[in-house]
Amino acid sequence: EAKLHGGGNRLVFSESMRHGMLRQLELSSALHNAISNEELEVYYQPKLHLPSRKVIGFEALVRWHHPKFGMISAEEFIGIAEQFDLIVELGTLVLTRSIEQLAQWRDNGLVDDEVSMAVNLSALQLVDRRLGRMLRELTQKHGVPPQRISLEVTEGVLIDDTERANEILEELKSTGVLLDLDDFGTGYSSLSYLQRFPFDGLKVDRSFVMNMMDSREKAALVRSIIALAHALHLNVIAEGIETAEQLELLREMGCEYGQGYLFSRPLSAAGMDTFLSTSATA
Ligand code: C2E
Ligand code: MG
Ligand code: MG
Ligand code: MG
Repeated sequence: EAKLHGGGNRLVFSESMRHGMLRQLELSSALHNAISNEELEVYYQPKLHLPSRKVIGFEALVRWHHPKFGMISAEEFIGIAEQFDLIVELGTLVLTRSIEQLAQWRDNGLVDDEVSMAVNLSALQLVDRRLGRMLRELTQKHGVPPQRISLEVTEGVLIDDTERANEILEELKSTGVLLDLDDFGTGYSSLSYLQRFPFDGLKVDRSFVMNMMDSREKAALVRSIIALAHALHLNVIAEGIETAEQLELLREMGCEYGQGYLFSRPLSAAGMDTFLSTSATA
């Protein structure tokens, strides 16, 4: 405890930093085993058509059930997985499970054929040459049309070499899957990315949705992102919808799709079974 050593902000800060670093170290060594020990689980958050509130797809979000720390969010360990060369293996697990899961919900009649699955990709997964083949194999195996799979990338993923990045994206798109720009508006060059790369949709970052009730100006920003997406013939989906007021405003702005805690938090596969069964009979 900081007070013991005489207090002061600096000491408190370094103490908490030490804790953070210790946790990081502990997590990174544990993550090696987690993949083979089945400690990783894929959660799903529904994406809805806002006017009808119909579920049109899911986003797969990985979770780590650590025996000691409990549930750990992707936010915390994806970076560690990237640093320690575990991200391709982790990504393979997420793709495999989530495509299988979509097929299962379809086979059980919980969703119709139109419903899709979105998976987040890291840079290292994107440059992995096996990704395209894996997508072909998985979609074929489960009879899922590739157009029902979308890959979410952030602009950070594409920074290095535009030509090479475009080649990779076109190659992936040739499998039939869709491509969405995640966290739109948070980076430096979102606009030029939309021009340069073959995206099918953009996701309005949660921070814009969160702030748009604050002022006319912030609302205008969201309104213009939506208009821009439409002008470029891109699907637009709003992230992080938490309140009925946000939903109302987004609908009024013509935003067609959205996801967020207002509709559902990310749920385990079993949790989503229940969510889908109850909303289907409602
Ligand atoms: P993202 O793709 O932008 O995912 C959205 C994040 O916002 C998720 O956090 C989700 O749980 C959270 N979220 C959804 N609705 C709401 C809401 O209404 N309010 C708030 N406050 N939060 C909401 P999560 O699961 O912690 O994931 C964080 C990031 O980690 C993701 O951001 C994504 O970039 C990455 N990630 C998650 N799963 C994977 C994966 O399987 N592979 C890779 N490479 N990255 C992943
Ligand atoms: Mg995402
Ligand atoms: Mg996002
Ligand atoms: Mg994000």
